[in-house]
Amino acid sequence: MNALTEAFEILSVKDIPEIGKVFLARPPGEASRRFEFVDAVDLGRPRSEKWVVMASTQYGCACACRICDAGNFGYHGNLDAAMILEQIEAAVRLHPEEDPSAVRMFKVHFARMGEPSLNPAVLECLERLAKDGRFPSFLPSISTVAPSCAVARDFFRKLRDIKDRRFSGGRFQLQFSLLSTDTEARNALIPVKKWGFAEIAEYGRAWMRGGDRKITLNFALASGIPLDPTEVERFFPPEAFLVKITPVNPTRRADKNCLTTVWYEPPAHILGLKDDLERRGFKVILNASWPQEVEGRASCGQLAEETLRSEVRFG
Ligand code: SF4
Repeated sequence: MNALTEAFEILSVKDIPEIGKVFLARPPGEASRRFEFVDAVDLGRPRSEKWVVMASTQYGCACACRICDAGNFGYHGNLDAAMILEQIEAAVRLHPEEDPSAVRMFKVHFARMGEPSLNPAVLECLERLAKDGRFPSFLPSISTVAPSCAVARDFFRKLRDIKDRRFSGGRFQLQFSLLSTDTEARNALIPVKKWGFAEIAEYGRAWMRGGDRKITLNFALASGIPLDPTEVERFFPPEAFLVKITPVNPTRRADKNCLTTVWYEPPAHILGLKDDLERRGFKVILNASWPQEVEGRASCGQLAEETLRSEVRFG
């Protein structure tokens, strides 16, 4: 598998049947600087229609959210632009039969592992990929917990400018992972200093230009965690924001914190929330778990977690 690239060593590969592969990698000889990336398709759709790459932006994660395994082994710095881009190159190399320029949508999530707004190299990657003639259908997706610090503030200011210059007309996806409308619960789940809802809403209003995709408010809704539609309506205009509700797949950390909530069909209370939010004018997306991802234990950070634990056990 190391023929895939010389930039990093592949430590482990996990198949997600019908979807793709998760890779665990590290720069040559660097024991603690590990990251995952994913080469995938949407279940049931050919790669020529939609090709999905999930690229890490940090070694580990600086945020250590309580539902995610990415931060389990600490934070060991940002990937540079070359290392982020090389994950995309490796995915392309995996499929020499496929011409990325002919794919209807080439989607890159800057989401796994790491908080992208803490790494300015992500902005450089967006600029470079926008100019790369091999990816005319490139659709970037940034998912963030909205950290409140000078680096992230500068990132979000520049991100808006890049979106307007390079990705107008709905070719950019931005998602704020809120996890709960309850401030105390949100702070417990995402233990870093963050923007408040008013600040996110203000940014969203300034973000939107004609033709842009709405910004996603993501609630990976953990067991017993509140999502109050009146709070969503109080802060966020439905013209600029949509709501996505997902389960919390069983990571080691989510299980330990009793937060896992797998559903393959939306349960009654989730359907109730959807109705309520729709009555308030919000578009709502319900993203059920995929059995392949749950059974394969392929959520963010899980391969890193498993590999390290087996090394500790046998090493
Ligand atoms: S959910 Fe995202 S920000 Fe939170 S620990 Fe995982 S990778 Fe980091």
